[in-house]
Amino acid sequence: MKLLIACLLLPLFAFAQTTYLHCGRLITGTDEEVLTEHTLVVTDGRIAMVEAGYLEPTDSVAVIDLRAHTVLPGLIDLHVHVESQSSPTAYSERFTMDPADVALRATAYCRKTLEAGFTTVRDLGGSGVNVSLRDAINRGHVVGPRIFTAEKAIATTGGHADPSNGRNRELSFDAGPEAGVINGPEEAYKAVRTRYKNGADCIKITATGGVLSVAKDGSGPQFTDAELEAIVAAAKDYGMHTAAHAHGVEGMKRAIRAGITTIEHGSLMDEEAMALMIEHGTYYVPTLSAGKFVAEKAKIPGYFPPVIVPKALSIGAALQATFKQAYDRGVKIAFGTDSGVSPHGDNAGEFVYMVEAGVPPLEAIRTATVTAAEVLGMEAELGQLSVGFLADVVAVPGDPREDIGVMREVMFVMKEGVVMKNSPTSSRK
Ligand SMILES: [Zn+2]
Repeated sequence: MKLLIACLLLPLFAFAQTTYLHCGRLITGTDEEVLTEHTLVVTDGRIAMVEAGYLEPTDSVAVIDLRAHTVLPGLIDLHVHVESQSSPTAYSERFTMDPADVALRATAYCRKTLEAGFTTVRDLGGSGVNVSLRDAINRGHVVGPRIFTAEKAIATTGGHADPSNGRNRELSFDAGPEAGVINGPEEAYKAVRTRYKNGADCIKITATGGVLSVAKDGSGPQFTDAELEAIVAAAKDYGMHTAAHAHGVEGMKRAIRAGITTIEHGSLMDEEAMALMIEHGTYYVPTLSAGKFVAEKAKIPGYFPPVIVPKALSIGAALQATFKQAYDRGVKIAFGTDSGVSPHGDNAGEFVYMVEAGVPPLEAIRTATVTAAEVLGMEAELGQLSVGFLADVVAVPGDPREDIGVMREVMFVMKEGVVMKNSPTSSRK
């Protein structure tokens, strides 16, 4: 009997671990200002207390000394692709890599992302391996961020996410709703329901052409109003929010009017589109990192297929200017990099580009904490270091208000109360 009681109690004691984090500077996500000399008390994977001063620990309490650091909520990147990373050989990978190869490589990308301080990501499209990765991470089999995934992006025939694009006629095929390709509202419903069946958390569509698809135009609209309305309505039925990849302005406006949750890239956004976003409460996920990356790589001969080079040069360059206009206009900005285009693990470069464009550092950080959590519908659990929130905590050396570059040097990462990284060496490449 005694043994039985001990066995029943053991997991409780093992779980009720309390840790004190002594924080030199603390950005909670709620306060306008940065707090100094505070203690975060973490119990059972959640924030139990936020106290002024450095609390003295009792014997059973672990202490982590972050007195020389700035401590902030675990960061959220709303636009990654964990299955891939762009390279001159990326276009042939689909013919050479098996799903297991994709999955195993992605585990390395997941670890890099987490160690860079991103404890939560939204994966906006892959083959479906991203769903298995989410589950493997949740089960503790793989080290990585918490993933919210769109599984496979939805396109129209020949559109940016049509998986048969760019192939010769022998290898091409007429992809349907199961493969994420729709024509007409009925197929839109079927594609959304298929994503739900396959385990997606949200829906991603490619509302316009894309820079990296093997097609000449990156700006034209690729869905009708009726198709977009069907996608948003179907997603709502299943409790999923929606994200639209959009460069050109007509496809963007159609998606905003249909009630899409986030616009990704938004490269050629105009005044009217910005006004519509404010009216509909649409979030803008700028992905400046992707714009910078493709514009730079397009200058290297042979890096991209020739049809992509002019798109990468023009659209990549437009992004930062558009972002600044949208920010000044008051459009809600949420953080996303498109990592998988740019390298995994350098997600925090986005903060640097935002600040370069004129955004105050604390506001840039807020896009990856409070605002990003809102997009995911997780605003009561993630994005803040407040009592009751999940204990996703990161620390950087120095003060990001003085040098935003320190966001690239995350040296401490805690996810749901578990220390995933505690290293004096920085993550800066
Ligand atoms: Zn993307």
